[in-house]
Amino acid sequence: MAKYTGSVCRICRREGAKLFLKGDRCMSPKCALVKRAKAPGQHGAMRKKNSEYGIQLREKQKVKKTYGLLEKQFVKYYEKAESMKGPTGENMLILLERRLDNVIYRMGIGSSRAQARQMVNHGLITVDGKRINIPSYLVKAGDVIAIKDNKKDKACFAEIKGANGVLPKWLDFNFETFEGKILELPKREDVDLEIQERLIVELYSR
Ligand code: SF4
Repeated sequence: MAKYTGSVCRICRREGAKLFLKGDRCMSPKCALVKRAKAPGQHGAMRKKNSEYGIQLREKQKVKKTYGLLEKQFVKYYEKAESMKGPTGENMLILLERRLDNVIYRMGIGSSRAQARQMVNHGLITVDGKRINIPSYLVKAGDVIAIKDNKKDKACFAEIKGANGVLPKWLDFNFETFEGKILELPKREDVDLEIQERLIVELYSR
């Protein structure tokens, strides 16, 4: 499947929700969803009410787009979640939250998941001292996440030096040493997305 190369704000407008795909801009009045809340396209303002299937589909799309996944990749997470103990929807969100690119974003190292993914792809991140360039790498409790020693001076990290970001309680990150830790695995309540995962489970159970 081809990679989406269009405007990411268009995705938010299509889903009718802020998916925070563009870093700092998402928090500013320049956010496209603040300026133009209607769905994209000529008839965006006239969209019909969604069917039950449509609502389930939109919920799935929201999660998929938030984490920047293609359909095939998303289905793999769903299948893995299904094979685990506990509620499938919750398991799926927790698996997605454990992705290394998401962790880099949550720690405040990357301003968006897309930027965080690029940092991982470019080999700027280490886990337990080992360079990991796989964005889908699943972190585990106790993992030490750091910016590679010889990459700490890169321009993309200049802004976060000395920052004091609010971290989710399952993560720790020192903005002076550029080193952080996975304190524990995330729980459903740590996934701060307005998502009804049961709708996604219903969609795939059809
Ligand atoms: Fe979505 Fe961010 Fe664009 Fe707003 S600025 S529409 S939240 S990607």
